[in-house]
Amino acid sequence: MSEASRLFKQVIKDGRKSLLETEAKTVCAEYGIPVTEYKLAKNETEAVNFAMTLGFPIVLKIVSPDIIHKSDVGGVLVGIKNAEEVRSGYGRIMDNVKKHAAKANIVGMLVQEMAPGGTEVIVGSIKDPQFGPALMFGLGGVFVEVLKDVTFRIAPVSEDEAAEMISEVKAYPLLKGYRNMPPADLKAIIKILVNTSKLVLDNHEIKELDLNPVIVYEKGAKTVDARIILE
Ligand code: ADP
Ligand code: MG
Repeated sequence: MSEASRLFKQVIKDGRKSLLETEAKTVCAEYGIPVTEYKLAKNETEAVNFAMTLGFPIVLKIVSPDIIHKSDVGGVLVGIKNAEEVRSGYGRIMDNVKKHAAKANIVGMLVQEMAPGGTEVIVGSIKDPQFGPALMFGLGGVFVEVLKDVTFRIAPVSEDEAAEMISEVKAYPLLKGYRNMPPADLKAIIKILVNTSKLVLDNHEIKELDLNPVIVYEKGAKTVDARIILE
């Protein structure tokens, strides 16, 4: 049995519908989708030690089965530069969560490699009641949220179809480089789309998947947030 299907079984057994970010990233990594490095800390001291091992800057994120949108509750801090900031950041996130999600069950604090800036894209999957899993692609931020500039394909998505998806969003010219933005590695995005297609086809328990954002570079790409919701 794959690690992914073992994980899904466990989550269902626990009575949960959504995977923790750590779990979703484990599944992504198994399917060759590049993710940021991370360690799950149980307390402040552990967070400091993990941050030193990973190397600064790092990102801190709350991990809770009850918190799906982490930044909405003040659960994400980026650009943490030293041990002192890890300590204060840890406390700040815990305070925020106490205030905005008082009843949330806390698993720990994710200490995560901070991905450098690049072009943010979104890869998603939803289930069409008739045709099964469909893949979604778009550029991050206003492009998806305001302009709804996204494209869909029913899985399986081949390399050629993935390339087509990328080229048909209106924001496509931005991926080819614009002003001070270097061209984005389209092959890396294609690979992520194809692997995500495999992932959702292999695992029918997945209802929704959301890699938001994936940061794309001139060479390579990195998924900094992954969400998987089960049926
Ligand atoms: P949310 O649950 O709110 O979607 P995210 O994990 O997506 O939380 O974090 C919010 C934002 O913080 C992201 O959209 C991204 O801009 C930034 N971010 C998160 N993790 C990282 C990381 N490892 N490296 C760089 N930026 C990050
Ligand atoms: Mg996100």
